[in-house]
Amino acid sequence: MLDAAFFRRWMTATASAVDREAARLTELDSAIGDADHGANLQRGFTAVTAVLEKEAPDTPGGVLALAGRQLISTVGGASGPLYGTLLRRTGKALGDRAEVSREEFAAALGEGVAAVAQLGGAVAGDKTMLDALLPAVEALGESFAAAGEAARAGALATVPLQARKGRASYLGERSIGHQDPGATSAALLVEALAEAAA
Ligand code: ADP
Ligand code: MG
Ligand code: MG
Repeated sequence: MLDAAFFRRWMTATASAVDREAARLTELDSAIGDADHGANLQRGFTAVTAVLEKEAPDTPGGVLALAGRQLISTVGGASGPLYGTLLRRTGKALGDRAEVSREEFAAALGEGVAAVAQLGGAVAGDKTMLDALLPAVEALGESFAAAGEAARAGALATVPLQARKGRASYLGERSIGHQDPGATSAALLVEALAEAAA
């Protein structure tokens, strides 16, 4: 079973991965965006780990809802409200249970991803974070490792796509041939689950 400490470790592991990969995320965003994705997420997840340390919610839903609110209030770019909605809605779906199974978490994350799709109006293949998140939700029923691999593969598969949403869509066909920064950071988020479980 997954408890609040697991979800706090997930957020901490994500913050470390974002710190480690910030330069690469910004480099990807400089090719098809405005070169701020690494800095946006670094600011956001640094604030998330700080508030979780201070308030330490004692349920999985509480951890994710607080993390989501923090991302929304600290990240100015498109990714802040989108990741914030992902975590808030996932947390809401987990309710106030003290522990959840991986299957229950997978179902809740599915609701969170659906909320991201609704907020941003994107679908699979639009070259966004959804291209990593949707396959990850599918694979999460199997294992954390499978979800991480699916997210990573989904991010790589954005390279030949033309962006249909967000800043990259302004480039039209010139967005083809570049990996989407948000799909890349979404893979970091999902890969951090296996670390939190270890
Ligand atoms: P901004 O584009 O506002 O500078 P970021 O650089 O932080 O924000 O995040 C860009 C990423 O956000 C993109 O790579 C993409 O994955 C994601 N994104 C942008 N718009 C949408 C959308 N409408 N739906 C889903 N994801 C989106
Ligand atoms: Mg950007
Ligand atoms: Mg920006």
